[in-house]
Amino acid sequence: MFNSTLKQLSALLAQKKLSSAELTQSYLDRIAQRNPELNAFLTVDAEKSLAQARAADAQIAAGKAQPLTGIPVAHKDIFCAQGWLTTCGSKMLANFVSPYDAHVVEKLNAAGAVILGKTNMDEFAMGSSSETGFFGAVKNPWDPTRVAGGSSGGSAAAVAARIAPVAIGTDTGGSIRQPAALTGICGLKPTYGVVSRYGMIAFASSLDQGGPMAKSAEDLALMLNVMAGFDARDSTSLERPEEDYSRLLDVRLTGDRSKPLGGLRIGVPKEYFGAGLGADVGAAVEAALVQFEKLGAVRVSIALPNSGLSVPAYYVIAPAEASSNLSRFDGVRYGYRAAEYGDLTEMYRKTRAQGFGAEVKRRILIGTYVLSHGYYDAYYLKAQKIRRLIAQDFAQAFKQCDLILGPTTPGVAFGLGSMSSDPVQMYLLDIYTTAANLAGLPAMSIPCGFGEGGLPVGLQLAGDYFSEARMLQAAHQYQLATDWHLRQPAGME
Ligand code: GLN
Repeated sequence: MFNSTLKQLSALLAQKKLSSAELTQSYLDRIAQRNPELNAFLTVDAEKSLAQARAADAQIAAGKAQPLTGIPVAHKDIFCAQGWLTTCGSKMLANFVSPYDAHVVEKLNAAGAVILGKTNMDEFAMGSSSETGFFGAVKNPWDPTRVAGGSSGGSAAAVAARIAPVAIGTDTGGSIRQPAALTGICGLKPTYGVVSRYGMIAFASSLDQGGPMAKSAEDLALMLNVMAGFDARDSTSLERPEEDYSRLLDVRLTGDRSKPLGGLRIGVPKEYFGAGLGADVGAAVEAALVQFEKLGAVRVSIALPNSGLSVPAYYVIAPAEASSNLSRFDGVRYGYRAAEYGDLTEMYRKTRAQGFGAEVKRRILIGTYVLSHGYYDAYYLKAQKIRRLIAQDFAQAFKQCDLILGPTTPGVAFGLGSMSSDPVQMYLLDIYTTAANLAGLPAMSIPCGFGEGGLPVGLQLAGDYFSEARMLQAAHQYQLATDWHLRQPAGME
């Protein structure tokens, strides 16, 4: 059961072979057993989850089931959920019980899904290892001495360890794709504006996007069908006709059954295969390219000349926006407040000094610096110009290809603590993922093999705006022909 796809679980529920309450309880038991080692979940609330599960069972009994009715979903602790502790991995919000639901949470609840719990993450989603959070590091189910990636590391580890059937995360510079790659699961960052940011605690608003994390491309599509949609409360939410993201999954591009992806042009950027890419990751991604060719895809050499500038541009823009977004945490209305203080200014100062961790403070310092008078033109404005160039590179590339394929990360999961003292080294891990956020493009990671230490390797597929269904089709056809996505860590069966 713990390896079942969402479709299989949904069929078991529909045939009354299993109730949502039983399913939810089995996962809660499994969390109790495995989570102490992994630290993937921060909050579980059996009573709340089971109440939702019983309501889902009533819906099913009444013949009103939708595709996700009764399915337990792990929520990254950045999504506000009414009545649930929502900490964003920070001491600042360690006591914050949300009075309202994020749009995504509202939609999942309306679809009959069950909130299985809230998952661990880097503090305010700042990091690539899920080690910066106030509640301790997430451990990688493949090797608990390694990181699970970040910042949606708890959601990734939960799906990889099969203590959640599916999860949701957020991606500002790679936080869905990178942990998915490092834990051997699938993750999708949609086109900017497809998923509402309302109630998703803001990090860098022009980059943040919520998305699904799952065992397969097919499951991602089912989740995105529910998560996507216009919401007037997010001014950057896009008003578009409703789309079925699973509509192309089983559509073959040619009549030749052995070549379902016949004619699909896959762009391979030379910049993604140069210095800095681990040999193990490079080999696994190359093998995947050969597999895609077997399925009929055509390899096209492309160039993304400004891709080397995406990390520097990202680490100016993201902290700039973060420094503004995080100004709301002032100890006045909600969240942490210093116990002792003199006047108002001292209350602000002590609250923020005590409530934020080192990485968050570093970002606020960088952000306020690059936005300050005298430095704005040299840093922030220049970064925005680079952002435009990066988007233009992609526009050029998509004249030659339908999808872009490359590695998600330069290496496999690294040792816990091994990079914590070198933030710049950690930032460089985002080399292949940040460009999609800067350009607002959809991108996903799926498992494609194993590297050093027997650890999972992920490949990244990126597409033009609104090409999620096309990307999912390519990923699904690859997963019909391979079994990397079915592999799981030892001892998790
Ligand atoms: N690793 C990147 C950062 O630290 C991306 C994080 C994210 O996507 N939330 O900012």
